[in-house]
Amino acid sequence: MPDDTLDDLFAHNRAWSAQMERDRPGFFTSLVKQQTPKYMWIGCSDSRVPANQITGLDPGEVFVHRNVANIVVHSDLNALSAIQFAVDMLKVEHIMVVGHYGCGGVKAALDGIRVGLADNWIRHIQDVRDRHHVMLESLPEEVRADALCELNVAEQVVNVAVSTVMVDAWSRGQKVTIHGWAFGVHDGLLQDLQMSMDGSKPLDAIYKAAVQRIRYKWSTPGESTTIVPRPRSEASVDELPSDGIPKRPAP
Ligand SMILES: [Zn+2]
Repeated sequence: MPDDTLDDLFAHNRAWSAQMERDRPGFFTSLVKQQTPKYMWIGCSDSRVPANQITGLDPGEVFVHRNVANIVVHSDLNALSAIQFAVDMLKVEHIMVVGHYGCGGVKAALDGIRVGLADNWIRHIQDVRDRHHVMLESLPEEVRADALCELNVAEQVVNVAVSTVMVDAWSRGQKVTIHGWAFGVHDGLLQDLQMSMDGSKPLDAIYKAAVQRIRYKWSTPGESTTIVPRPRSEASVDELPSDGIPKRPAP
């Protein structure tokens, strides 16, 4: 017996296709010819964070890569190939790395919860957690997961920026900007973490300002997120080398 739920999916699909064609005759014919998205979305696989619906973009307008907890690992050929295709072939102008509050992967990383094979993937977020442990432990316990969600976005934006794809694109003058965003499952709203990188400014300064903003935001909930300079000693755990490429702290 066919699954009723799956039948529903096909029925909805037929209705959607017919509605699109009624509203915008020739829509699918134009899609067949090419895709020319301006945007690439790197987000979490979480079913509550669908790129197109959140941003009001149609099919053909955003190139999407999703995995558990929106991680870009230097050696992940899946993510890197998607980024390379988006930048080199599709010529996207913006890449958004989008985390979301209430992310199960981030929570598991923060609390060290074992979930199985995915522990090995989530380990990358634990590296972020460990890198910023001084800050995280200074924050109220109830906001640490949201802060780590944003810190993870900041780290992954840098990981995209230091990829060979982006280094090569910027060196040949291609205009591509990487953004760090966070999505609120509780209100449906996107937050810009204000750490956009277009290759024209040192990555370390943008990264450090973003981390400082995150620290301030979550240590003083409800207040504005204006950057307040901190004594150097407090920021030492987040210091970066002068070459602008973040490195993991020594063990
Ligand atoms: Zn998630």
